[in-house]
Amino acid sequence: MVSVQNLKKSFDDVQVLRGVSFECQPGDVVCIVGPSGSGKSTLLRCINHLETPDSGGIYVDGELIAYERHRNGRLIERKAKDIDRQRREVGMVFQRFNLFNHMTAAENVALGLVKARGIAKGAAHRMAEDALAKVGLANRGKAFPRELSGGQQQRVAIARALSMEPKVLLFDEPTSALDPELVGDVLAVMKDVAAGGITMLVVTHEMQFAREVANQAIFMDDGQIVERGRPADVLVNPQHERTCKFLSRVQ
Ligand code: ADP
Ligand code: MG
Repeated sequence: MVSVQNLKKSFDDVQVLRGVSFECQPGDVVCIVGPSGSGKSTLLRCINHLETPDSGGIYVDGELIAYERHRNGRLIERKAKDIDRQRREVGMVFQRFNLFNHMTAAENVALGLVKARGIAKGAAHRMAEDALAKVGLANRGKAFPRELSGGQQQRVAIARALSMEPKVLLFDEPTSALDPELVGDVLAVMKDVAAGGITMLVVTHEMQFAREVANQAIFMDDGQIVERGRPADVLVNPQHERTCKFLSRVQ
């Protein structure tokens, strides 16, 4: 479903992704862990066209997302076509929700349906209410973000991403900005979403969630995948010292 091949990305002179490769199958839940600055967000942002990689391939459901490379000193470039449509097929949930504060929860969810999918306002609103009900926010569609807790706002963001019916859903530390007592509700919604069979890539430090829900774990450090495998192996019995060190700090 997602295939990333030798992905490289630099900002100025700093190489942030140093040849990242992995694959996952439809319905997989892949959790990505690693220290701050290791390139996790940049990896997700490349998959969602928010960053352009320097080289390497990214495919989603067999379709090219981004590819650009040099051979014999010559730039050979193939770029994804139809970026707007591809963006709709890859949803993203951010650490800081990124809701529009002047719009209600339902308006936030409906916006993409109207703008990106061309659905009529009334129908989009009904779809938004349905999507909100799925994340436990039935009847909260008229609330503005400031009237909702952080956990509820994040669930609106998840409803917004889900309503677009993406093939892949990316989560970038979705619970890191929440008060501890609100984390559980958001993780429960993510667990439900995973059970629905959508492919998910989740950057998270919630180890219990990773062990319970994910079927693949990736440990990244310094722009590279250090270790990848079943969560029970990578997160419980890591083979590499860097993984051991990191895990001893987070759990
Ligand atoms: P992580 O999500 O694992 O904490 P990031 O992907 O956010 O890591 O960042 C990896 C590195 O890339 C960091 O050193 C960060 O400062 C740098 N970086 C990320 N985005 C940019 C940017 N837009 N411009 C310059 N440097 C960036
Ligand atoms: Mg990050």
